[in-house]
Amino acid sequence: AMALACRPKLLIADEPTTALDVTIQAQILELIRELQAEDGMSVLFITHDLGVVAEIADRVVVMCRGALIETAETARIFDAPQQPYTRALLAAVPRLGAMRSIDRPTPFDAIDPESGAATPAAPLAGPPDHAAAPALEIRGLTTRYLTGGGLFARRRPAVHAVENVSFTVAPGETLALVGESGCGKSTIGRTIMGLTRPHAGEVLVDGRPLDGLARRDAVRRVQMVFQDPFSSLNPRHSVGTAIAAPLEINGIARGAAARARVAELLALVGLDPQMAGRRPQEFSGGQRQRLCIARALALEPSVLIADEAVSALDVSIKAQVVNLMLELQARLGLAYLFISHDMGVVERVAHRVAVMYLGEIVEIGPRAAVLYDPRHAYTRRLLDAVPVADPAARFRRRDIAPAEIASPLRPAGWEPPLRRYDEVAPGHFVMA
Ligand code: ADP
Ligand code: MG
Repeated sequence: AMALACRPKLLIADEPTTALDVTIQAQILELIRELQAEDGMSVLFITHDLGVVAEIADRVVVMCRGALIETAETARIFDAPQQPYTRALLAAVPRLGAMRSIDRPTPFDAIDPESGAATPAAPLAGPPDHAAAPALEIRGLTTRYLTGGGLFARRRPAVHAVENVSFTVAPGETLALVGESGCGKSTIGRTIMGLTRPHAGEVLVDGRPLDGLARRDAVRRVQMVFQDPFSSLNPRHSVGTAIAAPLEINGIARGAAARARVAELLALVGLDPQMAGRRPQEFSGGQRQRLCIARALALEPSVLIADEAVSALDVSIKAQVVNLMLELQARLGLAYLFISHDMGVVERVAHRVAVMYLGEIVEIGPRAAVLYDPRHAYTRRLLDAVPVADPAARFRRRDIAPAEIASPLRPAGWEPPLRRYDEVAPGHFVMA
């Protein structure tokens, strides 16, 4: 509304939907298209998301290292890209449905940006060990935020961020947790980490509860990587100091031993061990996320919670970090709770997918079942809003939700209805 107040001839939209989740993104794109049709306004739409480009653009200009390298009508860019760099960009776009025939996490092909040649990614280790005890188990987890405090706190409404959520993640397995912003994904992550206190329920890591006497030991076995690698690292400390911190705090290593371990961890995430003395601001976004992963791995966890860890990275960097995570999982047998609103990435990395709506899981099951045979109406709506990197699908009709997500703010004393899940296929559960 602010940008349109003076009825401009040209609207410059700089990554206007990058931080939004798919359903809201679809609404904003629809709105821009409508306004454009009404006013005949020109739009310069800046984005790194080629799915969005396919939806909104008539013409595309591709930039690389400050230079304009290719320009053409949208369909031509997608069907017959001329430049290797454009081809590399297109190859790195996760397309929902591309993994239909493949039944396990699949790294992105490595693309040489100069030649555009693809080096197919090596297949990964076999399926996770479901016979083993789960690396992570949560039972009936419930986390509520009370609004305001004081004497009458009990009579105030509460945000029911997470309601009675249960699942397990096996060693070497990735469970993707998807759903619109505000549905409670991060709260689950934070509650598992002990950063937020649950109202009810249990968290077990390697079979041990995260409270009581074993807490200190168990807590080390689960680590978290966040979306923003810029605010996750202190600019005043060298990255070596940051990675060594968990080792020192837990009395595992200090001095030369800690430095040796830091060098090992940097190599593990594909960075030069010589870089330990540098500050975070000397690293790119993708490198910083590698640093955050190195720090999370310092204590040899069995579970890694990745909260939108690749969502802010652009396509080619995102592909590299995803590949790194998959390699690390195959090598170290890590269990991942992969929180993301990016369905294209989820399709590549997940063994199983859990869909959340207003604090509850509405559907959970094997990746192919949930993504290609969704049973809950909400899952269908969520998948329908995913942009498709195909200009031909541009004007397909969609069931765009008219309003933003309903609020999980409930009156005092509210208890959720008792839920029942139907097992519609082996391991595929849907809220009745
Ligand atoms: P997601 O990660 O899926 O976007 P969150 O877990 O961050 O969702 O938030 C779930 C709900 O809890 C939202 O309604 C959010 O506004 C609310 N919420 C999150 N953190 C707090 C907090 N510290 N205090 C009060 N409400 C919160
Ligand atoms: Mg979140």
